[in-house]
Amino acid sequence: MEANQGWETLLTIGAEEGDVHLYGKETMEGIWEFSRTLVDNEESITAVGSVKGWENALSLLDDYSWLELYPIYIDERLRAHVAKEVLTTSIHHKDTFMAWADRCFPDVNSNIVFAANWIQTAGSTVVLTGAGMSTESNIPDFRSSSGWWKQIDPRTVATTEALAGNYPLFQEFYARRIEALKDIDPHEGHRVLASWEQLNLIDVIGTQNVDGLHAAAGSNNVHELHGSIDKIRCDDCDMPAEKIAFVENEACFQCNGKLRPNVVLFGEMLPQKAWTKTLEAIEKADLVIVIGTSLEVYPVNQLPNMTSGRTIYINAEISDVTHRFDIVIEGMAKLTLMEINELVLRSA
Ligand SMILES: [Zn+2]
Repeated sequence: MEANQGWETLLTIGAEEGDVHLYGKETMEGIWEFSRTLVDNEESITAVGSVKGWENALSLLDDYSWLELYPIYIDERLRAHVAKEVLTTSIHHKDTFMAWADRCFPDVNSNIVFAANWIQTAGSTVVLTGAGMSTESNIPDFRSSSGWWKQIDPRTVATTEALAGNYPLFQEFYARRIEALKDIDPHEGHRVLASWEQLNLIDVIGTQNVDGLHAAAGSNNVHELHGSIDKIRCDDCDMPAEKIAFVENEACFQCNGKLRPNVVLFGEMLPQKAWTKTLEAIEKADLVIVIGTSLEVYPVNQLPNMTSGRTIYINAEISDVTHRFDIVIEGMAKLTLMEINELVLRSA
């Protein structure tokens, strides 16, 4: 089977026993026909089957774990079909995967390709998000050095001490935050995560953010690990109250106690139920994706260690604690998620 009989080489894969070739030719009727051959080290040629149609060409390789072998040549016309297989096939060898990723997506960071593959091949995926997830919705990072309000470190205000000992400061701080959140919308990255839930690619989001943006983007299965700023209650009797009552500095109408948002202050317990459910999901997960958190706060910083699955870390700033992750992507949440999603959509 030679090229001079009208057959063209479309794919060559280096295998231990020799090179595997996928040939194709256009028939008189304009239909493409494909054939696979193995040229072994003794130069003997074995042809295997034949199929018609570009979309079926790669089925000739079905009995091979061909993505665990190295690509030697990919014809331009077959590239999109190969790329789809690269994104949706579970691949064990990192080296061969990198080689295929380089050939199919020469302009994409290979970690982005890895992420797109892992998301689509994992049985269960948990996403954990922190402040960096919300930054591109123009909510300033809680921990950024510039601060966002009176240059006061939120860590001194979002505390049980401030609630008990400096309520005017506490109330003003959270009233400003609630006001600031009124005009904030989820960004494309939040919507990507919501669409992945729709596609059954992710099971659960656990978030340190109290802004409710995941739910606003359409995610249904969200555990708020640090509570929600949208819910107001009395600190003394737990009676729920309206947001406006807190913003206008009113007291609890039942007991005259201090109103507060239902967020976890420094010095308080995490919400038990959200925490337990997130932990259970992480223990079962094949893949845990951590986005936009500096991993400084216990116990969220321990979560990646609690899974036997793969782990991906996405953050604008990469610190030295990230070596525990299988993949580290330095980038903003929105842009990175959009890049990964572009590949996910290509393989849909
Ligand atoms: Zn009360």
